[in-house]
Amino acid sequence: MYKGKKLSSLWENHRELFGNIQGDRFPLLVKIIDAKDDLSIQVHPDDAYAKKNENGSLGKTECWYILDCNENADLIIGHNAKDKEELQQMIHNREWNRLIRKVPIKKGDFFQIEPGTVHAITAGTLILETQQNSDVTYRLYDYDRLSNGVPRELHIEKSIDVIKAPFKEKNLERKITKEKNFTKEELVTCEFYFVDKIDVDGTNTFENLAPFLIMSVLEGEGSINHTPVKKGDHFILPDGFGDYTLEGKLSVICSGVSR
Ligand code: ZN
Repeated sequence: MYKGKKLSSLWENHRELFGNIQGDRFPLLVKIIDAKDDLSIQVHPDDAYAKKNENGSLGKTECWYILDCNENADLIIGHNAKDKEELQQMIHNREWNRLIRKVPIKKGDFFQIEPGTVHAITAGTLILETQQNSDVTYRLYDYDRLSNGVPRELHIEKSIDVIKAPFKEKNLERKITKEKNFTKEELVTCEFYFVDKIDVDGTNTFENLAPFLIMSVLEGEGSINHTPVKKGDHFILPDGFGDYTLEGKLSVICSGVSR
């Protein structure tokens, strides 16, 4: 019925598909990021700072599910400055190695990146990212690399403005439900989204109260309400779809917002 229509046009003209939730844009982005090189070290503002300093734009909270990575890989999350003053000094003195905080990672790890958190994805890491639909990014450091002969623009002052110091690690508690045919892990629930991981081996029906649900099949194959799905498929369950039945051997990430 909506074949060929873009998500943006359905969002504009058929808001009922998304539970008539408010907003001038679709609220989430879900991305697969396959980092070939170390990505630049950046930080995002929160909604209040972005609204004031970026023409009413939204800030960005994002989260990462590690799909794959090298052995002994790490990501950059947070910094080691004890307060704002030391942060400023270390940035101005370009003490990047001292400043940057690295976190060892392995497949299946999950991280919530709050606004004001210094972060970067390292080469060889494959992640699934769920984030607020915003593109406000302040680049703090780009490893002094050149692109077409010139360094990419940095946003040092805005970065210093928004970086929270000291960095406080957030310990996410996964709520895990394990039954014979499935395991459901509630990875995060925050103001902007929730993200769950579901592994099914067999058949199970899951409750769904969200106004819409974005699903990404990470592994395996099977079906959802008898429609075949397999690794690499991404789709949205619109409002009114209700509870859904997964069948087969599947790992799925579900991202959505609360009503
Ligand atoms: Zn980011």
